[in-house]
Amino acid sequence: MAVSTKAEILKAIRNSSDHISGQELCEQLGVSRTAVWKVIKQLQAEGYDIEAVTNKGYRLLSYPDVLSGSELMSRMNTKWAGQRVYFRKETESTNEDAKYMAEEGKEHGSLVVADAQTAGRGRRGRSWESPPGQDIYMSLLLRPDFSPEKASMLTLLMAVSVAEVINGLYPDMKVNIKWPNDILVGERKICGILTEMNAEPDYIHNVIIGVGINVNRKDFPPEIEEFATSLRLVHGEMIDRAQIIVGIMDYFEYYYGIFAERLDVSDFVHIYDGYLVNRGREVRVLDPKGEYSGVAEGINDKGELIVKLPDGSSTTVASGEVSVRGIYGYV
Ligand code: ATP
Repeated sequence: MAVSTKAEILKAIRNSSDHISGQELCEQLGVSRTAVWKVIKQLQAEGYDIEAVTNKGYRLLSYPDVLSGSELMSRMNTKWAGQRVYFRKETESTNEDAKYMAEEGKEHGSLVVADAQTAGRGRRGRSWESPPGQDIYMSLLLRPDFSPEKASMLTLLMAVSVAEVINGLYPDMKVNIKWPNDILVGERKICGILTEMNAEPDYIHNVIIGVGINVNRKDFPPEIEEFATSLRLVHGEMIDRAQIIVGIMDYFEYYYGIFAERLDVSDFVHIYDGYLVNRGREVRVLDPKGEYSGVAEGINDKGELIVKLPDGSSTTVASGEVSVRGIYGYV
């Protein structure tokens, strides 16, 4: 059974306010009754609570936190971002998978999602802790037609997308962004973003944006427990991962459309700065060429961090290989 038929059936029963008959599903999707019946059985086995009433049809009563290609594709509202989902129960790294997909010629907007990663990566060769069954690990493949120096701004667009989704779903959580690529709730990290590009000096082959989000996890290894948290730990209840992924694709597609017209982040500066945890605070810039301190003022139209130095002058920090820390701790 093609994933898309399953996704279509799931979408039809989810979007129907009342029972939807087997006959209706067959006609809508051009498949046999047996095919419909088989998909319903499969979905029930995966944990979807689907009621089947003779002469009325099927109705979706509830669904658990299921993460699968069909679940995601049946819920996507976008035109291109995440329209094709490649789901892996376990993989080494979704960014690596997306790289292979790029080489295979997969289209702009293809999304790899995994339930677990065995070698999840962060920036500068660091690792991203990725246990199964609880969190989000995904990578979006983009094939932009702008020049390579613009690509680092895509990290900021993704950061704002993640922040907006969490803020929209859980307005009581204090969502923050630690420039350029970390999303925090309060002062603890819940999401990291790793953008990787394959380019010539003046031409982008592809950009891959990897996103790891701590969603339902309840504990962390000692190295990160001091500064990491999950949405569930803050919210107190299980969270539907698919809803978050679908929301991020919605926002990202919308923001990407605006960004592609101007090729700067001028339309997003106010939103980004609104989430910027470092704003007005003293930060230490861990630049491999030499560390220094100053007060973070916000970002400019290129997505660089504006830092006011002790002598009163200002400098800008380009994201690349730089980390920013609070003077007394993580933020
Ligand atoms: P930072 O400024 O936090 O050093 P970074 O942007 O340089 O961040 P990332 O690429 O976002 O780093 O992520 C890698 C780092 O994040 C790891 O070195 C580890 O400290 C931390 N980390 C790893 N897994 C997780 C996780 N699941 N949740 C929160 N933090 C994690």
